[in-house]
Amino acid sequence: MKIAVPAEVHPGETRVAMTPESAAKLVKMGAEVAVERGLGRYMHVTDAEYEKSGARVASGREEMLREADLVLRVRQPPEVEAAWLKSGCIHISYLDPFSQSALTVKLAAAGVSAVSIEMIPRSTLAQKMDALSSQASLAGYVAVIVAAQRLPRVFPMMMTPAGTITPANVFVIGAGVAGLQAIATAKRLGARVTAFDVRPSSSTEVESLGARFLKIDIGDVGQTLDGYAKELSAEQLSKQKEGQAKACAASDVVITTAQIFGCRAPRLIDRSTIERMKPGSVIVDMAVETGGNVEGSVPDEAVEIGGVSVLGYTNLAGRVPDHASQMYANNLANLVEHFWNTGKGAMELKIDDAILKGCLVTHGGEMVNERLRALR
Ligand code: NAD
Repeated sequence: MKIAVPAEVHPGETRVAMTPESAAKLVKMGAEVAVERGLGRYMHVTDAEYEKSGARVASGREEMLREADLVLRVRQPPEVEAAWLKSGCIHISYLDPFSQSALTVKLAAAGVSAVSIEMIPRSTLAQKMDALSSQASLAGYVAVIVAAQRLPRVFPMMMTPAGTITPANVFVIGAGVAGLQAIATAKRLGARVTAFDVRPSSSTEVESLGARFLKIDIGDVGQTLDGYAKELSAEQLSKQKEGQAKACAASDVVITTAQIFGCRAPRLIDRSTIERMKPGSVIVDMAVETGGNVEGSVPDEAVEIGGVSVLGYTNLAGRVPDHASQMYANNLANLVEHFWNTGKGAMELKIDDAILKGCLVTHGGEMVNERLRALR
């Protein structure tokens, strides 16, 4: 099976879908791997290192993609490139299938079997393929680091002859994968951390990291079968905003990570709450790409509101491209390995498999994903 890994063309994307280590693993399984020249530049990995792992370094992007039986990448393909893929080609990447319907229609028309990495079920079996988790975890770490750099104060308590510095207060909203890593990172830096999530089960995880769970009574919330939070009613949202406003006002750093799968992110912090915070404080809106948890946050910008910095940086995992690529490439190699047929030397799509049922979007010229079909 011919596997192709093109360089990413999305502006600012530093992550890649293959490292020399994951290439070596796939070559050992019997794959022919081609990577585009310069693929590893943001990781400071040379073409020679890919060659040493058994991969071929290709200069012609179009030719490499036209020949491929399997394409691995981070971002969705540009629409023009969907037409280059041969019928029956498997394409694995983020696809943003809830909003990229024109692209998915093109992939289906080209006979491509497109796997959307963000739709891999959050099951125990699929954990090693779960790129949402691997990238969210790094993003949670980076969110705290960028906040610490921006904050005109330090995180830890310091008792010095020049005086005592009290620890910074950090408030994390949303204690999923990114939020828990943000809590752990802020704790390691010495901050006093408080967190809130609408899933009551998250309180134990928050407390096990040594943070305080903010109790707000918003009534019954529930979660989906996949473990995702459900959308709150307007009344519940208003109770939450009221309950957390005091914690925001007392915080030096607020990190918001609240997401509802497949929907716009809930608006949790209004301008009036930001104006109650101390000047110099920092908010990182990790949900900015899906609409934002914070009023006034702008994708990829640092905005000042009443002296408070609101950071709307996207692709936080891309700020640590070595580890982000390492984890993402491992997730993809694990997915390919899971469906690898050693006899045929190829990845075999068992479309009744529970993992594939969740994440296969197009196959045999059609849109096959039940969840997406239900939305149309
Ligand atoms: P996510 O990115 O969709 O959302 C982030 C967090 O925001 C979630 O914890 C969610 O509950 C929370 N949230 C939503 N609305 C909120 C609101 N109004 N206020 C505060 N918080 C709000 O979630 P995720 O981090 O991708 O994780 C989703 C779920 O999947 C979690 O339950 C997680 O434990 C589970 N999970 C399971 C596995 C596995 O078993 N393999 C792997 C990863 C995640």
